[in-house]
Amino acid sequence: MMNILRHLPAIHQLKAHARFSQIALKLQISEDVLTEWLHEQVDMIRNKIRNKELTDETLDRNKLMELIMDELEKKALRLYEDNLQRVINATGVVLHTNLGRARLSKQAINQITNIASSYSTLEYNLSTGKRGSRHDIVEDYLKQITGAEAAMVVNNNAAAVYLVLKAIATDKEVIVSRGELIEIGGSFRISEVMEESGATLVEVGTTNKTYASDFEKAITEDTALLMKVHKSNFSLVGFTKDVDTDDLVEIARKQHIPIYEDLGSGTLFNFKNEQIGTEPTVQEKIKTGIDIISFSGDKLLGGPQAGVIVGKKCFIDKMKKDQLARVLRVDKFTLAGLEGTLKSYLKGQEKQEIPTVRDIIEPRESVLEKANVFIEKMRSSDTGFVFSIDLGKSKVGGGTMPDVEIDTYVVKVKHNQYTSAELAEKLRYYKIPIIVRVKNEEVILDFRTVHGDELDVVIEAFLQMQ
Ligand SMILES: *Cc1c(COP(=O)(O)O)cnc(C)c1O
Repeated sequence: MMNILRHLPAIHQLKAHARFSQIALKLQISEDVLTEWLHEQVDMIRNKIRNKELTDETLDRNKLMELIMDELEKKALRLYEDNLQRVINATGVVLHTNLGRARLSKQAINQITNIASSYSTLEYNLSTGKRGSRHDIVEDYLKQITGAEAAMVVNNNAAAVYLVLKAIATDKEVIVSRGELIEIGGSFRISEVMEESGATLVEVGTTNKTYASDFEKAITEDTALLMKVHKSNFSLVGFTKDVDTDDLVEIARKQHIPIYEDLGSGTLFNFKNEQIGTEPTVQEKIKTGIDIISFSGDKLLGGPQAGVIVGKKCFIDKMKKDQLARVLRVDKFTLAGLEGTLKSYLKGQEKQEIPTVRDIIEPRESVLEKANVFIEKMRSSDTGFVFSIDLGKSKVGGGTMPDVEIDTYVVKVKHNQYTSAELAEKLRYYKIPIIVRVKNEEVILDFRTVHGDELDVVIEAFLQMQ
């Protein structure tokens, strides 16, 4: 052991090694940073020798130098791999929470790029030459599209729920139906957010049935808010009873108590008209006379991560003034992305321009066309694959419309050597990772969530696997 330790090169010797400056030059990393890493690598090798993990007695100084340079280069190369990587979603789940939910429209991306590289009017009013408010950037769009009196945007919908409860109901009571005390992905629980906000939760009804009279009976002098929560990721079937927003609005009016609905996804596009689900639009909800609504920016809206709050001006103003609004505020990229997204809705171009809307309503025949292009390209090469096309179901995902299954066509893939799990792994390791479904020993590709240029990448990945 002592023998190997004696051969360990000094830092100045390593720095004089030809590979040191080669790595610095080739990978554009400063020699100062590389020198720090050299210290780390030498320490690591020294420890390995001491712990007898490195016992090869033939290791002389030159070999040790090469070993350290190999490690140094490996570490440097890792900087060229991103932790946050682009992937291709071939699962057919449109709003895949693990894969980043909505992908943005070209218009939204252009606006983000435009704003990212310059100074902007984030908080500057061009007509007065004085300070402006970032709240003004998308408020008019939201008012025009939804018909609400006022609007604001925070970091995400979880933050929106928190802000509404904190600004309107701290030290007061909020009445919620037991059937709507949800927990959604990423450990968001209505009851816990409520506790954090300082509001007191008053549960009414039972898990499966809540009546309007349950709300009426629970109202006291301390009631600050009636709250309704979209069930989002589950549905109650069988003997159930919910209180409609309309009925709650009527009770709220009579008792002069505001009513708030956490809509979860909150779509601006009417999917019902396309025979997809029963999701009410934000516009329809506003028409009921409800006071406050909140929803996500990156679910059915198809924009960047954000929490949108729309409703009566007096409540929105109160929330804008709350200190918490400053904590939860969004940055210029989110506002740029939202502006780009909302413009498509104002123009009535969401079917054409918003990928989330477009993907959800894409007819199965159009998915079949992509599947056929794929199969056709595969046919021309002799591989161990067996492909077949079958009817299937796509999902909306993102904890929205849990019951909705969208008719689609899928390509089922088998291989004469690899198992479906091995195949899925190979696809995950492709230079642009491809994420697929695995079911019944088959890999399933749903091209609903794969766009034209991505289809070429999937074809390439399969051709390279033979
Ligand atoms: C998704 C969802 C949230 C959380 O929204 P984020 O934008 O993910 O923070 C809150 N409430 C409901 C009902 C939801 O569906």
